[in-house]
Amino acid sequence: MSAAAPPGLPAKMHALVRAFLAEPGAVHAAVAQFGAPAHLVFPQVFAENLERLRVELAARVAGFRICYAHKVNQSRAFVEVAQAAGVGIDVASAAELDSALGSGFAPGRIEVTGPKGEGLLARLVGSGVTINVDNVWELERIAALAGPGVRVPVLVRVSGFAGTPVSRFGVPVARLEAVVKVLVAERERIEFRGFAFHLDSGEPAERVRAVESCLMLTEQAYAAGLTPSVLDIGGGFRQVFTADAAAFDAYVHALRESLLGRGEPMTWGGNTFGFHLEDGAVHGTPVFHKYANIVDARTMLADLLDTGLEAHGGRTIARIAAENLLDIWLEPGKALVDHAGITVARVEFVKETADGSTLVNLDLSRDTVTPADQEVMVDPILVPAGMNPGADDGAVGVFLAGRLCLERDLITNHKVWLPRCPAPGDLIVFPNTGAYHMDLSAARASMHSVPPKLAVVQRSGTFTVCRDVDYRHEGA
Ligand SMILES: *Cc1c(COP(=O)(O)O)cnc(C)c1O
Repeated sequence: MSAAAPPGLPAKMHALVRAFLAEPGAVHAAVAQFGAPAHLVFPQVFAENLERLRVELAARVAGFRICYAHKVNQSRAFVEVAQAAGVGIDVASAAELDSALGSGFAPGRIEVTGPKGEGLLARLVGSGVTINVDNVWELERIAALAGPGVRVPVLVRVSGFAGTPVSRFGVPVARLEAVVKVLVAERERIEFRGFAFHLDSGEPAERVRAVESCLMLTEQAYAAGLTPSVLDIGGGFRQVFTADAAAFDAYVHALRESLLGRGEPMTWGGNTFGFHLEDGAVHGTPVFHKYANIVDARTMLADLLDTGLEAHGGRTIARIAAENLLDIWLEPGKALVDHAGITVARVEFVKETADGSTLVNLDLSRDTVTPADQEVMVDPILVPAGMNPGADDGAVGVFLAGRLCLERDLITNHKVWLPRCPAPGDLIVFPNTGAYHMDLSAARASMHSVPPKLAVVQRSGTFTVCRDVDYRHEGA
């Protein structure tokens, strides 16, 4: 990179995805056949991510279960791969349950998390799935709904750990006594498997404290005559978006400078991304901080299992679990789909605005590629139309604009440098959109239809693309 190189946010990408994008005409052919914009998923990358976590677990604990958190992506291909790999699945709605059953998951390998109403509970009781209970009401309803001879396997989700932000989910640690009472009273109808937690936080210390609390609760449950055999540590294992941490830091530095009026403007419409300006300085943590992460999920998981706990004579979490015959369950979502999805959009036109900014207008909207409207801090990739990319007339800083007739439909509120100014018909690829980005809020505004989802597979060096709903896993 020369000193004059523009600020950039290079994306970490899987070699398979890179090869697909580099294959002449491949991306253009896929959207010509199935339509643009489109979401593409790469089941082989998912399978690799799964295997990585499995290896870390197998090296440390005898009993474990990975439950793929389906809500991260609606893809059929990912569910098929998880099923074929023999792992579990974590579903959070009736439709996700149907999806898991449809791909061949036996009820014994299905866990249901999230908020559940009466209708879903009635369906779950007696079905053989494990219910990850959110609150005392659920527990009491399960006991009431269980007919004679039915014993419902449950985990109890706990929250409200010391030093952890309040969560809307789970039973507060301080209220566990009431739960244990119900579990003991209803043991004929409820098979208590153990305690569970799930933290959004990437902060290792928070997860360690949650494990400590759950181990303490497990002891109390034993003392009350229950026989828990599972410790469910949830998901939240992080993704790595950036290929270059130093470049990321340099970009954010330039962005902060621009907020102070130094250098080239880098934000659209006065956006400050959660920074605030005071006394001529920029303060605060940006809303996009997760894109700076460089610790991958397998490392995060290994570090957690290798953490020694003082209250247990310094023994590691893995060892404590083994000695107490506790199986470790986890529910990774984003970690399994990391680098296993991209989103492709078409350039419609390019224009200049009154402030001199260049807007590249695409055929998708902001919420088709952003998770919960967060700014995505990863550079998109320009795939020019035709074989001849034309002359590179030098990098150009642009904002990407969406197709909705709304002022706020800017796909990037931060300036993005592309190798040259795009032309109508060029494609823009958003890397690593598999986790929440592509499915959490798929836009139907202005009566646009939801983009098709396609599965890309490489066999003997050849790529094939099919509709995701048509994907069926073939033996490796
Ligand atoms: C969403 C969710 C997960 C998956 O979270 P990731 O951060 O994607 O790993 C796991 N468990 C529960 C209960 C969830 O709600």
